[in-house]
Amino acid sequence: GDFPIELDTLVIGSGPGGYVAAIRAAQLGQKVAIADKGTLGGVCLNVGCIPSKALISAAHKYETAKHSDDIGITSENVKVDMSKVQEWKQSVVNKLTGGVSGLMKANKIDVIQGEVYFVDKNTVRIMDEKNSQTYTFNNCIIATGSRPIELPNFKWSDRVISSTGALALKEIPKKMVVIGGGYIGIELGTAYANFGTEVTILEGTKQILSGFEKQMSQIVSRRLKKKGNVEIVTEAMAKSVEETKDGVKVTAEVKGETKTYDADYLLVTVGRKPNTDEIGLEQVGIELSDRGLINIDKQCRTNIENIYAIGDVVAGPALAHKASYEGKVAAEAIAGEPSEIDYLGIPAVVFSDPELASVGYNETEAKEAGYDVKASKFPFAANGRALSLNDADGFMKLITRKEDGLVIGAQIAGPNASDMIAELGLAIEAGMTAEDIALTIHAHPTLGEITMEAAEVALGSPIHIA
Ligand code: FAD
Repeated sequence: GDFPIELDTLVIGSGPGGYVAAIRAAQLGQKVAIADKGTLGGVCLNVGCIPSKALISAAHKYETAKHSDDIGITSENVKVDMSKVQEWKQSVVNKLTGGVSGLMKANKIDVIQGEVYFVDKNTVRIMDEKNSQTYTFNNCIIATGSRPIELPNFKWSDRVISSTGALALKEIPKKMVVIGGGYIGIELGTAYANFGTEVTILEGTKQILSGFEKQMSQIVSRRLKKKGNVEIVTEAMAKSVEETKDGVKVTAEVKGETKTYDADYLLVTVGRKPNTDEIGLEQVGIELSDRGLINIDKQCRTNIENIYAIGDVVAGPALAHKASYEGKVAAEAIAGEPSEIDYLGIPAVVFSDPELASVGYNETEAKEAGYDVKASKFPFAANGRALSLNDADGFMKLITRKEDGLVIGAQIAGPNASDMIAELGLAIEAGMTAEDIALTIHAHPTLGEITMEAAEVALGSPIHIA
């Protein structure tokens, strides 16, 4: 019985998909409202990318302070105050979510606090603790993101935790078991291992970080094992968990044998589930895939003409920058622009030790796609900057088309791979060849020279390897 409030463009969810879509829509002259039931910034800013990178960085600083004897630095009494680490992490998150709030104001975007539920293709109800208000809209962008998958035998508790719980621990556990050797499990497992926790990673397949080539993930598993407090158990099927007085006992089947693992905490990171099940999509008839993802076209439009979907609720890599990219495309499509999604240039990064990064095709994918390719490798060990950082484990692999040297992919395992991959993404987007990169003067001594040298390898004329 309430009076509906009329909106032009409604964005549902304020993660890196939603808030970026809202800003771009406002820039294009739409009157925009963004609704979220939680805190501005979504998973990424509050319980994902940002807090995880803060913890990883803190753990890394601690580990480096403790273990730099090989370069002549010994230190005693290096300590971690986990509650201070948590306070600092939260201050980083707050700065960024506050920043998003400022951006909403600056772009005259209305922020509506509450849970959105569809009524029909032009109407939603938004509920907060007290009220339910009806809104009508011309266009809508669904960006409700995803949540951790809860396994039936591993119900969340104080001891059986998701990534969200692992990001908020007020103490450094003595022992932690991680189910799942994907990027979230490896990043958080590495962070706690660097803080001194004994970490056991149970991975169902034969390889951790299975989205990356074996040569790359092997460097990460080798480094993890070298730490001395990390055990990686592959082909391990976690079966059940029993909560003990002050911890957990995890049972797993490892290559046919039943094994148990005691720990203070069990971190379950076995994937994420799109938030498409509790928002009333069935009232509108929006089509989903069998995995519960919203089907969209190249402009992020669903089967309902005025409703778009972006980010973790649609297919493709569940990554923040992919969500933001789609957000821009959707907002531009609403404004009648011809923007379309093209996923080739979307990088994937793991903030492991060392970092892994990939963009475009890898060698196998390129061959499968029918390209005649050349894969050109250059090792970090032949780079002066990597050696002077005491961090020379890894390589870059440049994938070029044989006929003309066009850059169609790159993979990096090594320090700062996360930043280095940007140059290769640019090369792909701009249609550059290996020669273009080789002709670009890179400052010395920098890790960027590795990119120039890999391009020289592709041309058959590297300077710093024979
Ligand atoms: P989300 O960020 O999930 O935001 C969705 C928003 O919608 C939430 O704020 C939610 O409250 C709101 N919402 C949901 N339902 C409703 C409703 N019915 N009504 C109102 N609001 C609703 N990605 C990277 O690219 N790099 C990384 O380093 C990285 N690290 C990660 C680390 C961890 C531990 C995790 C969990 C994820 C990480 N990710 C990373 C993935 C990244 O966080 C997601 O891909 C990204 O947040 C997806 O953005 P989104 O906009 O689709 O949705």
